[in-house]
Amino acid sequence: MAPKTAGSIRPPASSGLYVHVPFCVRKCAYCAFFSEVRASDGGLAREWLRGIGREMRDVPEGFAPDTVFIGGGTPTALPEDAFARLLAMIAERWGGPGVREWTVEANPGTLTPGKLRIMREAGVTRLSLGAQSFSEKALAALGRIHTPGQIREAAALARDAGIGQVSLDLMYGWAAASAKEALDTVRADLDAALALAPDHLSAYCLEIEEGTPLAARRGAGGTVTAPPAWQRRAYDLIRRRLAAAGFVHYELSNFARPGRECRHNLLYWTGGAYIGLGPAAHSHWNGERRGNSPTLPAWSVAFRETLPPRRKACETLVMGLRRTAGWTREGFRAATGFDYLDLRGPEIRRLAADGLLLASPDRIRLPASAYFTSDAVFAALV
Ligand code: SF4
Repeated sequence: MAPKTAGSIRPPASSGLYVHVPFCVRKCAYCAFFSEVRASDGGLAREWLRGIGREMRDVPEGFAPDTVFIGGGTPTALPEDAFARLLAMIAERWGGPGVREWTVEANPGTLTPGKLRIMREAGVTRLSLGAQSFSEKALAALGRIHTPGQIREAAALARDAGIGQVSLDLMYGWAAASAKEALDTVRADLDAALALAPDHLSAYCLEIEEGTPLAARRGAGGTVTAPPAWQRRAYDLIRRRLAAAGFVHYELSNFARPGRECRHNLLYWTGGAYIGLGPAAHSHWNGERRGNSPTLPAWSVAFRETLPPRRKACETLVMGLRRTAGWTREGFRAATGFDYLDLRGPEIRRLAADGLLLASPDRIRLPASAYFTSDAVFAALV
C-alpha cells in the first residue's frame, strides 16, 4: 500500500452520529454540560425536535454512521412521545445493519418500560446508565436525583427489555470525611455495580467546573472534593478490582468486558469523523470542526474551524494516548498521515527518559504509573 501523504484528508473508514438532548430533571451539583430543567415542558421539547429535524436535513447524503450516540443532558428525561419521535427520526434516516452500536444515555429515575421498548424497537444496542454511586451520601453530595434502588431497577428493566449491553458510570473523589470512607464507598460501589453484570464501566474522578454549585461552594471555602492522594488510591483500587473481575482497562477512565469497548467513544479518541446534532454538539467532518451554540429553543453554528494538519495530528496523538494501548507508529500514520516522531520526537524521547511514556520502536503508550497524572504528559505533546 502506498504511504499516505502527510496531512491529506482521507474519507473516514468509520463515522459516528451524536445527538445532544439538552434536558435534565435537575442540575447535578458538579455539572457543566449544557442542559435545561424544563424537559416536562412538552412544547420546548417539540421545538427542540423541530430543530433537530432541520439540522438533519443539512447532513450530507453520503453520511452513514457506524455508531449512534444519544447523550446529554438526560435523553430519558424527554416526554415519551418526544423520545419516540427522536428515535424514529434517527432510525428512519440512518437505522439498519450498518449501525454497529447505538447507545442511549439514561439516568436512573427517568427510565420507564415504555422508553426501553421504544429503544428496543428503534434498534438501540447499548444503554449507558448514570449510576455514579450506590451510596446515599455520595449521591446527595453530587446532587443526583436518584436512589441506589433506582439504579438496580433501571439496570433490571434494561435487561428485561432486551437491550444488549449495559454500561454504568461511576464517580469518585467527592468530599468523603476520611480516606477510609472514600475507599470503602468505592469498594461498595464496585461490588454493587458488578452485581448488576455490566458490560462496561466508566469511572470518573469528580472535577470542579466553573459555574457549578460545587465551584460556588468551594469559592465560599467549602470542601467539595477528596484530597488528590485519596482520589489516586481510589483510582488504583478501581483498576485492580475491575481487572480481577475480567474487565479490560482500555481508556484512562473506561473498562469493558473483552469486545464491549465503546466504539463511538473510540472514534473520538482516534481522531475519527462524527457529526453532532443539537445545541452544544460538536462535529468533526471532512477536516472541519464545528460547534453549535448552547442555546434553546434554537441554536446555531457557534464556530467552524479547519485545523492545520499538524495541529490536528498532535491533538489526535494526545487523544489516542488516553487509550491504554496507546498508538502504534503505523496506526498513527494511518490515522493522521504523520509519523509521531516527526511531529513530537524530542518531546517523546524526553517523556520516555523521565518514565512518563513507554516508547518502543513501533509503539508509544502511557505507563500505568502516569494514568492518573496524564494531563502533564498531554500538555507536553499537544
Ligand atoms: S444528569 Fe448528567 S447532564 Fe444532567 S445535570 Fe446531571 S450530570 Fe449534568
